[in-house]
Amino acid sequence: MPKILEGIGCPYCGCSCDDVRVVVSDDGKKILEVENACAIGTEIFLQATNHERITRPRLRQPDGSYSEISYDEAIDFAAKAILDAKKPLMYGFGSTTCEAQRAAAQLMEIGYGILDNCASICHGPSLMAFFDNGHPTCTLGEVKNRADVILYWGANPVHAHPRHMSRYAIYPLGFFKENGFTERTVIVVDPRKTDTAGVADYHLQIKQGHDYDLLNAFRMVLYGYESDIPEMVAGIPKQSILEVSKILKRAKFGVCFFGMGLTHTDGRNHNVDIAISLMRDLNAVSKWSIMAMRGHFNVAGPNRVWCWTYGFPYCVDLTKGDYAHMNPGETSTIDLASRDEIDLFINIGTDAAAHFPIDAVKKLKKHTWITIDPNVSMAAEIADLHIPVGISGVEVPGIVYRMDNVPIQYRKVIDMPEGMLSDEEVLTGIANRLEELILEKAKKYCLDSSESISSESVICT
Ligand code: SF4
Repeated sequence: MPKILEGIGCPYCGCSCDDVRVVVSDDGKKILEVENACAIGTEIFLQATNHERITRPRLRQPDGSYSEISYDEAIDFAAKAILDAKKPLMYGFGSTTCEAQRAAAQLMEIGYGILDNCASICHGPSLMAFFDNGHPTCTLGEVKNRADVILYWGANPVHAHPRHMSRYAIYPLGFFKENGFTERTVIVVDPRKTDTAGVADYHLQIKQGHDYDLLNAFRMVLYGYESDIPEMVAGIPKQSILEVSKILKRAKFGVCFFGMGLTHTDGRNHNVDIAISLMRDLNAVSKWSIMAMRGHFNVAGPNRVWCWTYGFPYCVDLTKGDYAHMNPGETSTIDLASRDEIDLFINIGTDAAAHFPIDAVKKLKKHTWITIDPNVSMAAEIADLHIPVGISGVEVPGIVYRMDNVPIQYRKVIDMPEGMLSDEEVLTGIANRLEELILEKAKKYCLDSSESISSESVICT
């Protein structure tokens, strides 16, 4: 009899929907049906068992081909590479569990490396603005039950977060919003006529890169400087700004969801900073929250795990040994790569080769490149070593943080192919092997007697 699993988490976008229903074959090896997920989420589950998988690590040979090696050999290779590297960097983690992110932190502590995650090229500016200005926020449950005005700024959830509107923000019937979308006003600020803009009550088709100007104009209205606002701001007529300002002020519970269109246009963290300030001003007359539209299902996870471990959410430099520090621009992956400071790159749970500027990829590729990922991505294809692992959220259970920073326990749906390891197991294996190597090196070069030393007591120079 096929098994029916309820309340499964979807391992794709930052909505982290945990109401998916999956039907698994009676031998537990194949996913037969998926319900409640969007088209993308459904494919994530179905593709997990319906395509050829690489199930063993592959090491690049001198002739450029790959040859299969065992997990032990792969772990040994990775540990030796970290030991030999002056500045190893581990990047990615959008599609890994928090358990793997914690294991990675332990590994980079032992290896004196740098930890960075996808926020470095997506919501890093948002995190910097949160440092500077704080941010009033809420959970997606509160949005569903209370929100009457939804403002999407530089985000297109119809395509990037397909169930955001139907599960949380616009269409669901909430406790205090029993009539769903008929009780909500939707405003979209976007330079393009996106499909999200197509369902909005108001679409402010802003001039690209002028977000700061428009946010400032809204603040001027709130502070009573309407007469000083020019007839046109950022491509938006003054009349529309005044009209939308009234809706913002009258909201009983408004939420601003912002995406890359705000964080990666001119101004970057300053755009988010002034958006937060607008929320603060609005909270003097109504009730508003603000939330980043995080991309992957657990891209928020490393930010939380590393914050509680080191106090920093991304670009965490552990090379000093005694303390961690973070300085985007100095310790961020693209900048380090562009300056050719990284001599070992470990890509995990993302595809850096597909997302980074080509110059950064070329610089990283000059040195050893290891990819830990279930999929044959571009980052896997150019790697010196590709270690395939179980698919988080499908074959590997664990904690993930939704875009509103609510932790959710994801369950396993099917078993990994026999003999495969999870990313947490691989990272822990590398850390253990690295400790052995450090101890061996210490015995060989540093001390005469190995009787009284442990890896914790050794500082290899
Ligand atoms: S909206 Fe996102 S998390 Fe939800 S089912 Fe679709 S891809 Fe999965």
